[in-house]
Amino acid sequence: MENIRIYSHSACLSKENGEGHPERKERLDSILESINDIDDINFDFKDAPLAKYSDINLVHPQSYLDDIFLMIPESGLVGVEKEPYADTLLCPNSKEAILRACGAGISASDDLIGGDLKRIFCAVRPPGHHAETSRVNGFCFVNNAAVAARYLQSNSEIKKVAIIDFDVHHGNGTQEIFYNDDSVLYGSIHQHPLFPGTGLESEKGVGNIFNAPIESGTSSTEFIEIFNDKIIKNVIEFEPEFIIISAGFDAHKRDPLASINLNSEDYLTLTQAIVEVANQYSDGRVISFLEGGYDLLALSESIKAHLKGLSV
Ligand SMILES: [Zn+2]
Repeated sequence: MENIRIYSHSACLSKENGEGHPERKERLDSILESINDIDDINFDFKDAPLAKYSDINLVHPQSYLDDIFLMIPESGLVGVEKEPYADTLLCPNSKEAILRACGAGISASDDLIGGDLKRIFCAVRPPGHHAETSRVNGFCFVNNAAVAARYLQSNSEIKKVAIIDFDVHHGNGTQEIFYNDDSVLYGSIHQHPLFPGTGLESEKGVGNIFNAPIESGTSSTEFIEIFNDKIIKNVIEFEPEFIIISAGFDAHKRDPLASINLNSEDYLTLTQAIVEVANQYSDGRVISFLEGGYDLLALSESIKAHLKGLSV
């Protein structure tokens, strides 16, 4: 049984998106409460530090960050994207939340490079997988998983990183960032067609991108079969030295933003499959980032299953 470190921060709870927005602070409240209920795994909670610009710049240019932070309002909310996606919003506290969410992954990387800790979960928001190199998208500003991958490559012997994304939406940001970089494998299973519209199987990068689009209504059995066939199989072939998970819980049958039928326990199966590969090739090292998931009950149950999977 592995100990699990959890990175989070109160600033991640004070990122506001306004009344009725699905990406709300209660998501993280549910997750943290649920983690506190688990008594058969040893957790170690740490406050996420602020990410340094120089580390974020491994992925996003400084001018991109400056443009975002200049738009932050003194009160109320400001939409960053143009229609039809005007729901990626900045509130007065956004800068700290964005920097802490990214800083979680950087500290997690340092912990895993340096010590004997193997599994870390970053319970953070805003999420990251839709953020492209220079484009805010889908509630995401900085691609937390991508920065961690580049940080690991720049600060350790680790060169081959796999990013596995089981959020129900395609991680267009992560795909764009690594599209021409065969040192990083990106594998995503996602409902298609659905926001953001990318993620066809034909989008292969330089042979490092593996997309598994699935239809609305896909059952849990089919999902797991496809995940194993189209994602895990290719990750095994890649032999990653490190695994990062973009853990969205919106393929759950209760989720209001998608129509896939995973049950909470399925997140245990998915996570176990990933951890098996990590144990075989990556010295057991896994960092998982919270991405989407918009039903509070589904989140609180699914996170338990996910952490159980990470702990073995
Ligand atoms: Zn999602």
